[in-house]
Amino acid sequence: MPLDNEHLLHENSIDPPKGFFERHPGTPNIPGGWEEYLKLYNQSIENPSKFFGEKAKEFLSWATPFTDARYPPGNGFQNGDSAAWFLNGELNASYNCVDRHALKNPDKPAIIYEADEPNQGRTVTYGELLKDVCRIAQVLTDLGVKKGDTVAVYLPMVPEAITTLLAIVRIGAIHSVVFAGFSAGSLRDRILDADSRIVITSDESLRGGKIIETKKIVDEALKSCPDVRNVLVFKRTGTPHLPWVEGRDLWWHEEIIKHVPYSPPVNVRSEDTSFLLYTSGSTGKPKGIQHSTAGYLLGALLTTKYVFDVQGDDILFTAGDVGWITGHSYVVYGPLLNGATTVVFEGTPAYPDYSRYWDIVDKHKVTQFYVAPTALRLLKRAGSKYVQNHDLSSIRVLGSVGEPIAAEVWEWYNEYVGRGKAHICDTYWQTETGSHIIAPIAGVSKTKPGSASFPFFGIDPVILDATTGEELKGNNVEGVLAIRNPWPSMARTVWKDYNRFLDTYLRPYEGYYFTGDGAARDQEGFYWVLGRVDDVVNVSGHRLSTAEIESALIEHNLVGESAVVGFPDELTGSAVAAFVSLKKDVDNPAEVKKELILTVRKEIGPFAAPKLIILVSDLPKTRSGKIMRRILRKVLAGEEDSLGDISTLSNPSIVEEIISTVKRDA
Ligand code: ATP
Ligand code: MG
Repeated sequence: MPLDNEHLLHENSIDPPKGFFERHPGTPNIPGGWEEYLKLYNQSIENPSKFFGEKAKEFLSWATPFTDARYPPGNGFQNGDSAAWFLNGELNASYNCVDRHALKNPDKPAIIYEADEPNQGRTVTYGELLKDVCRIAQVLTDLGVKKGDTVAVYLPMVPEAITTLLAIVRIGAIHSVVFAGFSAGSLRDRILDADSRIVITSDESLRGGKIIETKKIVDEALKSCPDVRNVLVFKRTGTPHLPWVEGRDLWWHEEIIKHVPYSPPVNVRSEDTSFLLYTSGSTGKPKGIQHSTAGYLLGALLTTKYVFDVQGDDILFTAGDVGWITGHSYVVYGPLLNGATTVVFEGTPAYPDYSRYWDIVDKHKVTQFYVAPTALRLLKRAGSKYVQNHDLSSIRVLGSVGEPIAAEVWEWYNEYVGRGKAHICDTYWQTETGSHIIAPIAGVSKTKPGSASFPFFGIDPVILDATTGEELKGNNVEGVLAIRNPWPSMARTVWKDYNRFLDTYLRPYEGYYFTGDGAARDQEGFYWVLGRVDDVVNVSGHRLSTAEIESALIEHNLVGESAVVGFPDELTGSAVAAFVSLKKDVDNPAEVKKELILTVRKEIGPFAAPKLIILVSDLPKTRSGKIMRRILRKVLAGEEDSLGDISTLSNPSIVEEIISTVKRDA
C-alpha cells in the first residue's frame, strides 16, 4: 500500500540526529529527506518495473542491456510464483564490484584488512584487487571450473575471501560459502548438497588469539566427498604441520603467480545464479538459498547506498562474517558496488580486549559501523569504559542486524558509541531477502528504539492474521509479516528444490512471501519485528512476543542475556519460561529470580510474568550468535532425545548443562 504522511504521525519517534549531518557536510543520498523517501517509495511499489529498471540502468554496468525489467510484467506474485528481473541483460558481478572502480581509480583502497592481531593488517587497493581476482579466476578455470559450477569456500575473514568470491563470479561460477567455524560434518553436508568439486580454504585461521585448524577440518569433511577434485589453500599461519594430499591440494601463492594480472570477465545473464548460502539453521535443517546475479547486486547496491547513506569516500565496517548473508551483502558486494572501502576484520570484539571494535573505528575513521545485537550485549555487559576514550566522531551510521535489538541495548549503542550523533539503523532482513527489507534510511527516517521502522524501496509489507491469513489493515495491528510483491534481490529458489521454496515461502499465505516472523505495525505505522512465529507464546489468549519479554528482562542490571520460550500449562495453555544468564554469580539466586519476575510484571504486565526462570551460564547459540530457542523448548518438554540438528551450535556443550539445570529446577 502507498504510504502517506497522514498515517505516519511520528509522535513518539526520534528525528535523524543533527550530528549525522554535521559529521558529513556533503549531501545525503536522499537529499529531499522524508518527503522524497515517500515519493520514491510509492513509485517503487506502484511501478516496480519502471523504478528498478531505471535504478539498474543508472547504477549497474551492463555488457548487454536488459529488455524487460520484470517478468511477468505488472506487480505482485502471479499464479503462486515469483518474478524474474532484467531479462536478456548480461553483466558480470566482479566487473561491477571491481573493474569499473579500478579503471578509474586504481589506488583507492577497496579493502582495509584488520588481522586478528592488531597492527598486522594491510590495505588492498581496487587496482590490486582486480589483479588478484583475475589471477584466481584463471586458477579456477585451470582447475576445470565452468560457468554454473559451484565452488565451496571455507575461509577466514581475510582479503583473499573477497578475492575468492569475486573470482568465482568472474567466471560465471557459483560460490557456496560455509562459515569457517562450522564442523567437518556441517561442511561435508553443504559440499555434498551443492555438489561442489573444488574447495578453497586456508591452512589455519586465527580468531581471538586462538588457532583453528581449518585445513584439517576440510580434510575430515572430504573423507565423505569423493567428487572433490582440488583444494586450494591460502597460507594464513604457515604452520609446518599441515596434512597434504599430493595432486589434490594446491597452494594459493604457488598457483596465483602462474597467471597474468588481467583476464576478461565472463558475462552471465541477469537471472543466472551468483551464489548459494545455507541459512543459519536456527529453525531447522539448513536450506541452500539460491540468489540471482543482477537482482541481488541491485539490492545490495541500493540498500548500502540509501539505508547506510554510503558515499564514495566512506569506510564501512560490517563486523559480520562472510559466512553469513550480512558478510555477503555488506562486507563484500554492497560496499564494493558503491566503490567505497570495506573493512575486513578477522578477529573478535573481545580480543585483545573489549575495545577492539572501537580501536578499529578510531584508527581507520570508519563512517558506517554494522553489527549484531549479540555483540552489543557482550560489549554492554563488559562495561562502557572500553568505548570511552576512543575518537568515534567519524561514525554517521550505526547498524544493527540479526535479531530484534532491545531498547536498552539500542540506547547504549546510541549513547556510548554514537554519542547521540549517529543514525541508528536497525535493519530487518533475511538470507532469503538478499538485502534489507525494513530499515530506516540514514539521515531521513525517524526511528524508535527496537523498531526497524519502514519498508525499503520495492517492499510492500503486510501483516496477516496467522490463522485466517487475512490482511490486517491500518495501524495498531499485530500478526505475521508477509510481503505482497516480489523484489529484485529476493532468493529465487532453494537449491535443487523449488517445491520446498514454494512450501516455505510462497504457499503458506497465497499471494504473499511469508517471512516466518511475527510483527506489529504500531499506531504511527512503524514496523516491529517480534521474532519468529514459533517464538510467540500464547498465555491465556494473550499472544506474547518472546522478544518483548526478553527486552524486559535485560532491563534488570544483573541480566546479561535471556531467552524466553513457552511450555505447556494446564491452566493457561502455555506458560512463559525464561532462560537467563547473569552478568556475575550471585549468592541468592532465589531472590534474583523473584526480582526478574517483578521486572517483567512491571514492564509488560502480570500475564507475561515467567512461570519458570532457569539460570544458566550461557544460552545455546548458532555460530552467527542467534539463540536457538527450539532446543530450549525441547529440553523443557523433556524431549532431549530429539533435539534435532544441533550441528550449527557454536557452544554445543551448553546443552548438557541446560538439560541438567532444567531437571533440577523445573
Ligand atoms: P533459519 O532460516 O535457517 O532458521 P535464520 O532465519 O536465523 O536461520 P538468517 O537469514 O540469517 O537465518 O536470519 C533472518 C532472521 O533473523 C529473520 O527472519 C528474523 O527472525 C531475524 N532478524 C534479522 N534481522 C532482524 C532485525 N533487525 N530485527 C528483528 N529480527 C531480525
Ligand atoms: Mg530464516
